[in-house]
Amino acid sequence: MNPLPLKNIRRALVVAPHPDDETIGAFGLMRHLVRHGTNVRITVVTNGAASHNSKTWPAARLIARRRHETRHALARIGIPQTAITFLDFPDSGLQDMSPTGFRRLKQKLAQGQEPDLVVRPSILDFHADHRIVARACQDTWPRRVHQLTYLVWPDASQPDNPPRYRLPLKDSRLMKAAAIATYRSQTGLIEDDPEGFCMDRTLIQSLAGPNEYFGIR
Ligand SMILES: [Zn+2]
Repeated sequence: MNPLPLKNIRRALVVAPHPDDETIGAFGLMRHLVRHGTNVRITVVTNGAASHNSKTWPAARLIARRRHETRHALARIGIPQTAITFLDFPDSGLQDMSPTGFRRLKQKLAQGQEPDLVVRPSILDFHADHRIVARACQDTWPRRVHQLTYLVWPDASQPDNPPRYRLPLKDSRLMKAAAIATYRSQTGLIEDDPEGFCMDRTLIQSLAGPNEYFGIR
């Protein structure tokens, strides 16, 4: 497998379908880029309100909490709040989006200075929101903007598609596990929805390395 092509990246944009995907998919890469002087921006597409159906955490409270968690996780690697944009599309609702909604998503993604590198979800992800954000990213930037993809939830029905690039996390590994655990709403904070999403210790450890993998699809 090849090392990541990261020469001459001045501006990178990491696109997350949900608040936490940027950390799960690309924490080590973001840390590497920040340390090498790259301007790293994050765009979080959906509001994250679909992770739980809780009386004590109604949508507005959950959305605010997840924003706070994203800011907190990214502050650990020196990414300021001002570099994070929340687009507030409906969580788990992207597949029901109209063509107008899809165009609006692409317009929002394209806002700001053109990046040299876009890090985005994979078209091969099991989660429909991830696949739709992947398609929007494919359509948004011209070919001169390099795109790398991360796969959060592999789709077992898809043919095996080995990633092209590997980034060893090394000393970022423990930091990555801690950053994922920062997302307390996704790691057990919400107790009145047994069906709600929850990452346990074992899952966090497996999401946190020892490598991050990136593809081009
Ligand atoms: Zn996601």
